[in-house]
Amino acid sequence: MKKNRYLIKLSGEIIKGNKESGVSFEAADNLSKKTALILKKNIQLGFVIGGGNIFRGASKSIQGYNRLLGDQVGMVSTVINALVLSERMQANGIPVLLQSGIKIDGIVDLFDKEKVEEIFKKKGVVIFCGGIGNPYFSTDTTSALRALQVEAEWIFKATKVDGIYNKDPKKFPDAKFYDTITYDEILEKKLGIMDLSSIILMKENNIKLKVFNIFDNQDALEKVCFGGKIGTTVIK
Ligand code: UDP
Repeated sequence: MKKNRYLIKLSGEIIKGNKESGVSFEAADNLSKKTALILKKNIQLGFVIGGGNIFRGASKSIQGYNRLLGDQVGMVSTVINALVLSERMQANGIPVLLQSGIKIDGIVDLFDKEKVEEIFKKKGVVIFCGGIGNPYFSTDTTSALRALQVEAEWIFKATKVDGIYNKDPKKFPDAKFYDTITYDEILEKKLGIMDLSSIILMKENNIKLKVFNIFDNQDALEKVCFGGKIGTTVIK
């Protein structure tokens, strides 16, 4: 039977809301309310949360410092976001399972597939944080890995742009938008939409990916989950 199981990659910026940086409970609440409506319609959702609103290990601010430490701070940042999102999801009546690439006793446990299946049976969501638990990776690669581990049918990558273009649409008004594109084309054209390691993992494992804008349209999450015309679809 079709599970309608989707994995949503959320950049940390979504938890920032209108703030300059850090976390906004209001933004997390808004997302949770939308999630609650979607779950009522027989859809299973997992989230991979980033940490860019708090800290990115490869950011300029860490150049000249220790990258390993930077990535550790980055991974912990994703845990902070996950805790905030989890609190708001639960406040909106959604059972939540938090799983992490880094274990913090009393706060988050590591990946456990059985528990993921249990939370889906309870019509709840799983929030993955802490990346894959290793430096030099990002939450894009985490998304590809977790999608495979939970057998998600799609990854929906929520971004600030409408989808994939051949060049930056903010800088080049003549940028071409792709409705559909293949992983090979992304690699050939060096379109830096996601980390190379995540692209390779998704390509090799036939993961279906959609890149869409979650910021401009209040209905974007619903639309992407119900197969509406939105974003760019990436296929093998
Ligand atoms: N990170 C890491 N390993 C991982 C995932 C993330 O070291 O497997 C660190 C890395 O420093 C990264 C930061 O956590 O910059 C936050 O994740 P990401 O940049 O993917 O967040 P987003 O841009 O999606 O908000």
